[in-house]
Amino acid sequence: MNFDFDTDTEEMRAAISAFARDKLPCPDAFDPVAFRERWLLAGEQGVVGTAVPEAYGGLGLGAVTAAALMEALGHGSEDTGFAFSVAAHLFACLRPVVEFGTEEQKRHWLPRLSSGEWIAAHGITEPEAGSDALALRTSAKLRGDHYVLNGGKAFTTNAPVADLFVVQAVTDPSAGFFGLTSFLVEAGTPGLRVGRPYDKVGLHGSPTADVYLEDCAVPADHVLGTEGGGAAVFSASMAWERTCLFAAYLGAMRRVLDSTVEFAGLREQFGMPIGGFQAVSHRIVDMTLRLESARLLLYRAAWGLDRGERDEVAPGLAKLAVSEAAVQLGLDAMQIRGALGVLSGEAETLLRDALPARIFSGTNDIQKNNIARALGLGPKRRVRRR
Ligand SMILES: Cc1cc2nc3c(=O)[nH]c(=O)nc-3n(C[C@H](O)[C@H](O)[C@H](O)COP(=O)(O)OP(=O)(O)OC[C@H]3O[C@@H](n4cnc5c(N)ncnc54)[C@H](O)[C@@H]3O)c2cc1C
Repeated sequence: MNFDFDTDTEEMRAAISAFARDKLPCPDAFDPVAFRERWLLAGEQGVVGTAVPEAYGGLGLGAVTAAALMEALGHGSEDTGFAFSVAAHLFACLRPVVEFGTEEQKRHWLPRLSSGEWIAAHGITEPEAGSDALALRTSAKLRGDHYVLNGGKAFTTNAPVADLFVVQAVTDPSAGFFGLTSFLVEAGTPGLRVGRPYDKVGLHGSPTADVYLEDCAVPADHVLGTEGGGAAVFSASMAWERTCLFAAYLGAMRRVLDSTVEFAGLREQFGMPIGGFQAVSHRIVDMTLRLESARLLLYRAAWGLDRGERDEVAPGLAKLAVSEAAVQLGLDAMQIRGALGVLSGEAETLLRDALPARIFSGTNDIQKNNIARALGLGPKRRVRRR
């Protein structure tokens, strides 16, 4: 067992952290033009295609190193929303193309998605189908050499800026788990429309919107994987997302923890730094414990992905630990800053950015359901086989 990154990874982490600090300051408001410029810069650094093989324009990195670079991105910039957008693009869209795409699909889409030229969005959630992903209503019907998609997606990260959508639709309503199919749909395809960006509590640097599909004709060779294989594509992408995406939060937590320690050493009350009071120092120890233990779980999950493990437990535990630690660390960092903590700043930003992390990639309740099921507990998944 080795807890050190190799020299190359350490150098890449330092470069990405410095890039994020210098080039990705927190924007006051979301601006699609500025977002695209930042995305291209991130593409030049290789950040948006880390886990894509070099043959298709990526850096060819495994999950541990991709997570290490995502952690560096989250550490360098306070704009966790931007890091979240990059991670959603990379782990929920590009990785499925790497794993399930045909050679032609990979050659056609991955280079421009890895370079920063194109941005991807992944849509499974619908207004009536959130945690219950098998309740999707978006349908795809084969008509000659096209599928015709009708329905809509909700809460789609990157939708307002996306060039390519990975969309889950029902091709066989009677087949349950085996009735979903993944499609690659380019922006500008007639019948695909994106709604107005949401106004969220946090992650302001990441645009989210609804996607509407009305008689949207998608060529049959834009199916990702096989017809009926959509749930398998989705599960594989979630293993990467629940692991590597959350590394951005580890970086953000480290940055806020470090500045909190500094603050506790400088702020004086009753004639001494507040860090000298046990109530404050123990709170900081608890913050450190949460961050370090969540970090170990995350890298354990990434290590498993690199070894080809495909269980739901390790990524689920990583997602649970990191998201809960981030919320609590944000609260603690605000508390230690006193009134200054409730002003705009990195503690309240972390808290606002951390709250959605308990919801996306499957809520924390759903992670517990999945883990319980893997332990042989809880209700069985509704699986209807052909
Ligand atoms: C910032 C953000 C970005 C997102 N990006 C994307 C994206 O890019 N693509 C995409 O497809 N989706 C995205 N989502 C949507 C996200 O995946 C869903 O919000 C999530 O799956 C939960 O669905 P829901 O919001 O409909 O909640 P619901 O499923 O309605 O759940 C409501 C509450 O009930 C609980 N609950 C529901 N069922 C159970 C159960 N069986 N056991 C225990 N508790 C249960 C949930 O835990 C939750 O607390 C995003 C969400 C957010 C917040």
